[in-house]
Amino acid sequence: MNSSIIKINGKLPLGIFRYYASTSSSNTCSVYDLVVVGGGIVGCATAREIKTRHPDLKIAIVEKENKLAMHQTGHNSGVVHAGIYYKPGSIKARLCVEGMKHSYDYFCKHEIPYKKAGKLIVARNQMEVERLHELFERGQKNNVPNLELVEKDCIQKYEPKCKGEKAIWSPWTGIVDWAYVCQHFADQFKQMGGDVFLNFEVTGFTECAESKGSTEHAPISITSKNKTLLSKYVLTCAGLHSDRLAVMTGCDLSPRIIPFRGEYLMLNDDKKDICSTNIYPVPDPRFPFLGVHFTPRMSGDMWLGPNAVLALAREGYSWKDINIKDCIEMAMFPGLYKLCFKYFIPGMNELIKSIFYQLSVNECQQFVPEITAKDVKRGPAGVRAQAMDNNGNLVDDFVFDEGKGSIGCRIVHVRNAPSPAATSSMSIAKFISDKIEKEFKF
Ligand SMILES: Cc1cc2nc3c(=O)[nH]c(=O)nc-3n(C[C@H](O)[C@H](O)[C@H](O)COP(=O)(O)OP(=O)(O)OC[C@H]3O[C@@H](n4cnc5c(N)ncnc54)[C@H](O)[C@@H]3O)c2cc1C
Repeated sequence: MNSSIIKINGKLPLGIFRYYASTSSSNTCSVYDLVVVGGGIVGCATAREIKTRHPDLKIAIVEKENKLAMHQTGHNSGVVHAGIYYKPGSIKARLCVEGMKHSYDYFCKHEIPYKKAGKLIVARNQMEVERLHELFERGQKNNVPNLELVEKDCIQKYEPKCKGEKAIWSPWTGIVDWAYVCQHFADQFKQMGGDVFLNFEVTGFTECAESKGSTEHAPISITSKNKTLLSKYVLTCAGLHSDRLAVMTGCDLSPRIIPFRGEYLMLNDDKKDICSTNIYPVPDPRFPFLGVHFTPRMSGDMWLGPNAVLALAREGYSWKDINIKDCIEMAMFPGLYKLCFKYFIPGMNELIKSIFYQLSVNECQQFVPEITAKDVKRGPAGVRAQAMDNNGNLVDDFVFDEGKGSIGCRIVHVRNAPSPAATSSMSIAKFISDKIEKEFKF
């Protein structure tokens, strides 16, 4: 057994010893075929997809928290997007429309609570009406089902308290609890024989020494503080830490993950039924975010938001969350200065609204005039893993990377799975599975 294990500083890592001692007397059966790092919706959907395609493969998910879906997947708007916004022909557009349909089929099949609450994208003036028409054409090209253009006088037919110059009505947009969906994917994965390890924060990958005479690759040792797993192949889907996992295997620092917090307001209980659909502004094409919107929640609450402010920690859910290491890394990253320079004024606006949250109510009043500052309170927040290159450009596409060195070709990193990756998760899972089936020859 020891011949196939690298000794660190001359010592056998304790975790490996425990692993071998507790699993099997045979080396081969205690090595996983694939370990997926990251128990968010991308990791769980992909692990489930691969296990469905290849029931005989021994697969595990490892997650650093004590629960799945603790970060982006459990801190988002909970919208099932219909795929209107994305560039026609792009992978993002295709995966969103397909993912939305797969998701609804899955929700129906497994009785997962959801609502097709619909969505209005509302233009407030003539300039926005022009952009709304462009958006409508995009939606049509992306094959988003049943989109309608709604004239000023008819908007209230869809949402009685909403006003605007013109709107798009998207009846396929819905709401769901994405953390629940993620847990469901993981439960199915476990039922098929997959393993899930919580409290397993990956701190490094090393290659075990090859066994004499063996033609197979030596396994990769995936280490955490007090446990180690061995696997032939690894897929990382680590969201806010995706760049760090990639750097562990010799990949470039760029694209870097810069955390942007999205803070929500909540309508007070006596006002939460003021509307029943999602109401969105026409997005500003300069930014990757969709703008402050009204989102009904599965719990019956109504959220307004999210804004977009630079977080002072990768998992910085409030201004009080400051992580010195994360701040130093950001301060040393040239791309962030370039971005701040380019978006100084809108950035400061977001910052001011984050502090004086009542100011965001003005934006909401432009769609539903009845809302006042007294009707809202601070709500939860999520942190977006925004990938950024060295020139400060926000990366809007999928980014995959492969490690370097002898284990590099056996580790695939999902460095950027951009929003709406929750909606697209089932089609992203198919996309990634096709890719790694080819690369890992499953
Ligand atoms: C504010 C906000 C609103 C959004 N709204 C929507 C929406 O309405 N609809 C939609 O479709 N999408 C939405 N999105 C996007 C969507 O939530 C994300 O794209 C999606 O959840 C990404 O999933 P993920 O699995 O890649 O990342 P995550 O959910 O962040 O999962 C990554 C996991 O990796 C784990 N991890 C990290 N490092 C390690 C390590 N070293 N070892 C082990 N585990 C590790 C983390 O703990 C985490 O659980 C929104 C996102 C945000 C932030």
